[in-house]
Amino acid sequence: MSYELAGKRIWVAGHRGMVGGAVARRLAREECEVLTAGREVVDLVDQAAVRRWMAAARPDAIVIAAARVGGIQANDTRPVDFLHDNLMIEANVMRAAHEADVRRLLFLGSSCIYPRLAPQPIAEDALLTGPLEPTNEWYAVAKIAGIKLCQAYRRQHGRDWISAMPTNLYGPGDNYDLESSHVLPALLRKFHDAKISGRREVPVWGSGTPLREFLHCDDLADALVFLLRHYSNYDHINVGSGTEISIRGLAGTIARIVGCEAEPVFDAERPDGTPRKLMDSSRLHALGWDRARTLEAGIRDTYADFLKNQTEPGQERDQSLATLK
Ligand code: GDP
Repeated sequence: MSYELAGKRIWVAGHRGMVGGAVARRLAREECEVLTAGREVVDLVDQAAVRRWMAAARPDAIVIAAARVGGIQANDTRPVDFLHDNLMIEANVMRAAHEADVRRLLFLGSSCIYPRLAPQPIAEDALLTGPLEPTNEWYAVAKIAGIKLCQAYRRQHGRDWISAMPTNLYGPGDNYDLESSHVLPALLRKFHDAKISGRREVPVWGSGTPLREFLHCDDLADALVFLLRHYSNYDHINVGSGTEISIRGLAGTIARIVGCEAEPVFDAERPDGTPRKLMDSSRLHALGWDRARTLEAGIRDTYADFLKNQTEPGQERDQSLATLK
């Protein structure tokens, strides 16, 4: 299968977030027109606004990188935001896309759609085979509904729309707010702050034993453009880096890259979440994509971006409806 990007108008929904920003940057290297619209132009939870915008913009293809996202604590404590807003975004965008006859659409889910204790590495067909991880089931249920909606449009209306499931993501433009962020940006900020202030200890949530797989957002964006071109299937497809690290190991790696000698102190009062979620990305690799950078290189790049933005205040990023878990 080959979808020609040249000459197409491609809407990146959620371009102000980490993932949407990376997809827009990656698509800018193709001969297509990248459409973007901030929340002040079209609020994606507002059905009428989305239909109006879509009818006027009439994109050829859409990447839905917009989502209400957050780390383990935000997910656990704001269930309505994570369930409601994500259901609205995906339902509104897909319905309006169908009405506007949008030919290609790429929906993004998350590795947390899989059962908490799925066999590792997690293959695509593990979906709906067991109970979800309770700390992020609201987000997961919304994302599973999004996959199903995409499949429903394919089945009922013959739409060539696809879904990709990225693993845990990080990179430039991430959310560094310690209450709502994911672990990697949180630890970058904490070790950086400890280095500046000379503190000897850095609090790390949970036991340090959970294993996570990480993928740089620019690698994800490259994979997504590849899938937009070459993937046409009812089934969703995993996008991972194939390597995992414990939270303790991640803390050590980040401390080294930041140049901070503080010790991680594990806080057992905070949840661990799922013990392990390594995805099986062999389906993607078999199609011919395999270019993920190493975690070390990715964190160095991300820390450089963090430092740059530290020295340029006023560059607030709109995170709340845009980055992807
Ligand atoms: P998850 O992959 O959905 O569990 O999302 P997170 O990225 O928020 O958390 C991953 C793991 O890192 C969990 O076991 C957390 O308890 C752990 N962790 C350790 N320190 C932190 C922190 O400062 N912030 C976050 N968000 N997680 C942390």
